[in-house]
Amino acid sequence: LLEREDVTINAEPPGERSLLETILFSFGPTLLLVALFIFFLRRASGAGGGAGGVLGQFGRSRAKLVEGEKQTVTFEDVAGIEEAEEELVEVVDFLRNPAKYSKLGARIPRGVLLSGPPGTGKTLLARAVAGEAGVPFYSASASEFIEAIVGVGASRVRDLFRQAEEAAPAIIFIDELDAIGRARGGAGGVLSGHDEREQTLNQILTEMDGFDPASGVIVLGATNRPDVLDPALLRPGRFDRRVAVQPPDAAGREKILKVHTRSLPLADEVDLAQIAQSTPGMVGADLANLANEAALLAARRGHERVTRADFTDALEKIVLGAERKIVLGDEDRRRIAYHEGGHAIVGMLTPGADPVRKVSIIPRGQALGVTLSTPDDDRFNYSQEELRAKIRVSAGGRVAEEVVYGSVTTGAESDIQQVTGIARGMVSRWGMSDKVGFVTVAAQQGQSPLLPGAEPVSEATQELVDAEVRRIVDDELDATRELVAENRERLDRLVEALLEHETLDEVDAYAAAGIDRAAAPASA
Ligand code: ADP
Ligand code: MG
Ligand code: ZN
Repeated sequence: LLEREDVTINAEPPGERSLLETILFSFGPTLLLVALFIFFLRRASGAGGGAGGVLGQFGRSRAKLVEGEKQTVTFEDVAGIEEAEEELVEVVDFLRNPAKYSKLGARIPRGVLLSGPPGTGKTLLARAVAGEAGVPFYSASASEFIEAIVGVGASRVRDLFRQAEEAAPAIIFIDELDAIGRARGGAGGVLSGHDEREQTLNQILTEMDGFDPASGVIVLGATNRPDVLDPALLRPGRFDRRVAVQPPDAAGREKILKVHTRSLPLADEVDLAQIAQSTPGMVGADLANLANEAALLAARRGHERVTRADFTDALEKIVLGAERKIVLGDEDRRRIAYHEGGHAIVGMLTPGADPVRKVSIIPRGQALGVTLSTPDDDRFNYSQEELRAKIRVSAGGRVAEEVVYGSVTTGAESDIQQVTGIARGMVSRWGMSDKVGFVTVAAQQGQSPLLPGAEPVSEATQELVDAEVRRIVDDELDATRELVAENRERLDRLVEALLEHETLDEVDAYAAAGIDRAAAPASA
């Protein structure tokens, strides 16, 4: 068409590309990628010392070497867990004066396992050992050994032990040991994905057997779950020394508070012994937190020193949760007051129940109200009567609603959980039901999570357990109903006081209910 219309056309064929150019343009990007890949491969294997190949760098231990001088934590900072401390002082002494022990032919333990509930100071203790020992201290968390690639963990363990042996005398610290040390077997099979963990564990076992006890390498481990550890880890020659780090008693708590208030300006009236007295069950981490919260409160309130009120308010915040600003209608408030009042009245009137320390209808955290009961002393062992009393106190809230309103609300969810937990424990773990008898029928933890319900008890037994749990709860519910109905007037008086003051402490709560604290069966 253009030619026919006599238009000037200006078009040239494109210049021919050489063969080389064509190849370069079409394969260039691919070549670049390949080159890059090779480059990274080289670098990785170079850094890994060649031996490990691609995995070389992966396979190296990530344990941190803590230099003695840099570690500022010492045994001075650890308090209230003397037995555990003494064991470790001995370990430190061995590392400092090995001759003293070898002269007498004593063999030093290879492994020391610290076990105990979270926050009791296991990691702290290990850090103190690092500070005191004056030898290289390799610190690693067990989860750092585990990677998606099977074999990496084992290789890291090997590397860690080799480094420590070269630096001996030295200490290896593996925190949260249960991450790799869980009993092998169990949920094996297709879905397991536990190969890596098992290999890592095997490597630790091998290394602990392998090194010469005279070499002066001591392995420290820490765990919250000694019950799930592989028995092979615990046999003599490996973690042959087990140190139970227990929650502190009142005297221990006072010492821990002293440690954590060392740098705080305390008002003269602050009585640490009394604070320790009122915090049963708290561990070192809780107490450190308490001291810090008190200091924060004091700063916010513009105090020169940390006062007693700062401590009590901080404790309230920690134990009961922070206040929540929601506005409740009058009817809701009254119902909550009856619920909490019900817990409190039952707590005050039931023999064996812990004394009521505080009743509050201020919403905090998840809860719309709180009734706090704590024992006078630390408790380690509970009688059947005390457990039944706990069930009644927990049921008291719901029962009061029932008795007063004839209807119930959703507010008892956690109470019901607690009641069920205690009753189930009584039947299936503590041998407190005659029908089930002196046998454990609770599912063992750590066994076969893939096959729930595959516990070694028959279905008939399980049904019996359920029936017994129900019977215990029903019995206690009936007794609680009776108690609340009989003491309806006391409950009403307590509720009026609660609606007026929102929070009542021990003395006021007992007074409002017209119950003599000293004569109450709770303290009998
Ligand atoms: P875990 O036993 O869980 O390893 P940690 O050692 O990490 O507990 O403790 C956490 C914090 O709690 C510590 O850093 C320390 O401030 C405080 N703490 C715990 N136990 C003690 C104790 N016995 N003495 C002094 N402080 C403690
Ligand atoms: Mg720890
Ligand atoms: Zn409740």
